[in-house]
Amino acid sequence: MLDHERISTKISKFRPSLTLELKRLVGERVEAGLPVHDFGLGETKGDLAPHIREAGERAYREGHTMYGDPAGLPEVRKAVLRWLGLEQQYGPENVVITAGAKQSLFNIFLAICNPADIVLFDAAPWVSYQPLAVASYATPIMVLPAAGETHRLKVGPDDLIRNLRMRPHAKLFLLNSPVNPTAQLYAAEEIETLLQICVAHRIYFVLDRLYWKIVFDGGTFPEPRIDAETKPWLIQVDGLSKNFRRTGGLRIGWSVAPTDVSRAMVNLQSHYTSGPAVPTQLSARAAIEQAYDPEMLHDLELKRDLLLREVAGIPLVNVWPTPASFYSFWDVRQALGRTTPSGEVLHTSDDVAAYLIHEGGVVTASGTGFMQDGYLRLSFATPDETIRAGMRAAKEAMGRLT
Ligand code: PMP
Repeated sequence: MLDHERISTKISKFRPSLTLELKRLVGERVEAGLPVHDFGLGETKGDLAPHIREAGERAYREGHTMYGDPAGLPEVRKAVLRWLGLEQQYGPENVVITAGAKQSLFNIFLAICNPADIVLFDAAPWVSYQPLAVASYATPIMVLPAAGETHRLKVGPDDLIRNLRMRPHAKLFLLNSPVNPTAQLYAAEEIETLLQICVAHRIYFVLDRLYWKIVFDGGTFPEPRIDAETKPWLIQVDGLSKNFRRTGGLRIGWSVAPTDVSRAMVNLQSHYTSGPAVPTQLSARAAIEQAYDPEMLHDLELKRDLLLREVAGIPLVNVWPTPASFYSFWDVRQALGRTTPSGEVLHTSDDVAAYLIHEGGVVTASGTGFMQDGYLRLSFATPDETIRAGMRAAKEAMGRLT
């Protein structure tokens, strides 16, 4: 075996998760005693709610540590349907509980795609979509909006139709709303139009709604239409990691899908995980069974407003509005071609992100991780003081570019 044959070509093609790489970088700077204003990793903070913690503790105490149903515990699948308000439209056989939303996405690609099948992603796909698709031997293609800027990278009907004409054998279109990284929210009619196109072309419409409870300014998440026409083609992905405090590490997600697709996914995960850890499934059930506490949503809305106030007037940056999620998306294309105080020219948003870290300790995620060079993503699920100090440092650093 030659050296380059030791690892499969499909795995060696993609780099490790960018966001986790940021976590490592932050750790290094903290250890070195350097200032860090961390807007990198998209993770909720604060305390785990007592009822979520206690459900996990109880599970261990009462010995709920044996193998569970590979589809996920039936009572958890029923709780998911209630959480999503889907008890009338679906049964527990449509729900699969997974180790985070990531595994739901992986299940979808593995269950649906044959080698080289095309999967369509939106214009700024979340970092792991491509690796998950490639690892499933599918071919990811991004649907780039012709209207671009004016629609803030949202995919419109013409964009999808244009791509489907070029690739009539596409298997699915994956849409994320609220969008990580751009923080945009698709309106009900936008979702409906895209869903109709998928149904008409007999391809799956996969909706990743992981941030659906975090919609600001009194808005709510626009639900997709669910009826006999759309149900065979609609797959929804959701999970525990974003809509509650400190729950990312519990690693619970779920999909709601047509029965045949769910059956295939269960078959698959009966072999590769036997379903997620039972105690954390029980924690998840406790989380989603209580009426949703909007405390975190209100807190994040205040943080969004604080960030917008603190960053006002920042040079060379166009800060997009944040109607949902906990990300601030920055267009930094004006900064490309500028020179740093030490004489380096910034060519890409990776360079801008690296400059902000080294000059001001401001940690952001470069748009290149989301296939969009020229942008930065900042997570504001972070202490107010970090927002204040970080925005000050970012302003000063951007002001020093010439
Ligand atoms: N989809 C989106 C849009 C995400 O932002 C994330 C996590 N950052 C995931 C899926 C994966 O979520 P989980 O941590 O539940 O696996």
